[in-house]
Amino acid sequence: MKDISETDLKNNLPLSCKPGMKIPVHVGNTQVGGEGLTIMAGPCTVESREQVFSIAKAVKNAGATILRGGVFKPLTFPYGDPLLLADAGTDGENLPRTHILSKQETLERAERRFRYFAEAGKSVGLPIVSEAIVADAIEMMEPYVDMFQVGYRSMFNMDLLYRLCKTEKPVLLKRHAGESIRSLLGVVEHFYARGKTNLVVCERGVAVPHTHNSASRAILDIQAIVALNEYAPTIPVIADPSHSTFKRSYVQAMSRAAIAAGADGLLIDVHPDPEHAWVDPLQALNFDQFGELMKDVRSIALTVGRTL
Ligand code: PEP
Ligand code: MN
Repeated sequence: MKDISETDLKNNLPLSCKPGMKIPVHVGNTQVGGEGLTIMAGPCTVESREQVFSIAKAVKNAGATILRGGVFKPLTFPYGDPLLLADAGTDGENLPRTHILSKQETLERAERRFRYFAEAGKSVGLPIVSEAIVADAIEMMEPYVDMFQVGYRSMFNMDLLYRLCKTEKPVLLKRHAGESIRSLLGVVEHFYARGKTNLVVCERGVAVPHTHNSASRAILDIQAIVALNEYAPTIPVIADPSHSTFKRSYVQAMSRAAIAAGADGLLIDVHPDPEHAWVDPLQALNFDQFGELMKDVRSIALTVGRTL
C-alpha cells in the first residue's frame, strides 16, 4: 500500500487535498463538518415500520442528528437477504432464505421500506442516510433519502460513483478495510473532478492480522482520522465504531477516541433488541447503551471544542 507522495498532492489529489478550513456538507436540516458533531444512528437493517419509528424516537431523544438505516444489505453470501422477510405484513409473505431476488424484486421490496423509513425520519425531524449498492437504485431512493451511503465494499463501484455524481444529495463514502487513505482520497478526487463535492468520508476500520476477538472484523484506525484531517482538511470525516469493531462492548470507548482524535461525527448501529437484530446482532447498541455513549461523547465534545 502506498503513502501519499508530494507528486500525488500536486498531480493526483489537487482537489481533495486542497488546504483550507473544513467545508460543512449539508444533509437535510443539518450539516456535517461544522462546529456541531454529527451522530448518525439507527438500525443496521430497517425491519419494520414499528421498529424504525421507535428507533427514530429513541436516537433523536438521545441527541442523534441523522437517522441511519440499511434497506439494501451488501451481503457476504447470496442467501438470507433481509428483503426476503415480510415486515409487519406489508411485504406479503416471507420467502425462503435460499430464494434469490431479482434486481427488480429487490428494488420493489426495498421501496416499501424506504417509504416508512423516510416517514420515521420526518416524524422526529431527522434526515436519513442509507446505502445504495447498485446504480439502478438511486432514482428510486432519491425521493426518500437525504444522503446516500457508499458502503465499504463499493468504494470502487464506478457505475455507482458515476451515477451518484448526478445527484444533488450528499454522499457518505466509506473506506474499504484493505484500502489506503491514498486510494480513498483517489475516489474522492473522482467525485470532485466530476463536480460532485458534497461528500463526507467515513473511517470504517482496517483489516489486521488479529483483532483481539474471534468475531471482530477490523480495527478502527484512529490515525486515519488524524491523517484525513491533515491531508484533506476541508472534507468532513466521520468514524464508524460499529462496523469496524463489530463488537458491542468496544463501541462506546472507540467513539470517545474517534471524537477526541478529531472526527466530525459517528455512525452507530442502534436496535431496541440488539441480540435479535436481523443483521449485525453482535455490535448494535440498545437504547440505554446509546444514551450512555452520547453522554460520554458530549463531554469529549466539550474538551475538543465541539458541540452536540
Ligand atoms: C452499514 O453501514 O450498515 C454497512 C453494511 O456498512 P459497511 O459497508 O461498513 O459494511
Ligand atoms: Mn450494520
